Amino acid sequence: MPLLPILEIPHPTLRMRAKKIRSIDKKALRLAYDMVDTMRDAGGVGLAANQVGELVRIIVLQMPDEEEARIYFNPEVTKSEGMREVEEGCLSLPGLRGIVERSIWIKFQGLDHCQKLVKFKAEDLLSQAIEHEVDHLNGILYPDHLVAHTRLYKIDETQEHTESDRNLQVDQGQNIDDSDDTRNTPASAKIK
Ligand SMILES: [Zn+2]
Repeated sequence: MPLLPILEIPHPTLRMRAKKIRSIDKKALRLAYDMVDTMRDAGGVGLAANQVGELVRIIVLQMPDEEEARIYFNPEVTKSEGMREVEEGCLSLPGLRGIVERSIWIKFQGLDHCQKLVKFKAEDLLSQAIEHEVDHLNGILYPDHLVAHTRLYKIDETQEHTESDRNLQVDQGQNIDDSDDTRNTPASAKIK
């Protein structure tokens, strides 16, 4: 099956909302299976259809401890509880990581590859991956969930992730609180 090109930021499709799938036809199934191959080839834990340029609600997941990939159509997080800080990356933001806020657990539902409605409670990596991928379908990227006053950092993909890599911060243009200039700016100027 063909591998699909993975879109990277700032591609506008990554910021768009994907549409619900009315019927899971051959075309939708084929896309889902191509997404599984693409995710596995890229070494990802999950992939959303937006990332391959298709604005339909499909996510695929490959848990490290599971043999089979998971395919979900019209996935929904129906309940989420608690908050934890986790490190996250994304195939559409290569070479970057950030510390984000995610739920402790979620309740999930979606249609699987057999079009069967599945509902379950998820924790740990599965919960995190589902939140990340469902976010993609709503045009949300993980830097939107960065822990306050933190930024994305670069990682060297050819080497083991070390503590020193974390110091290479990437300016996202959002975190300006620590700038002296900002502190001295008159209130009227800040409102712009
Ligand atoms: Zn992603």
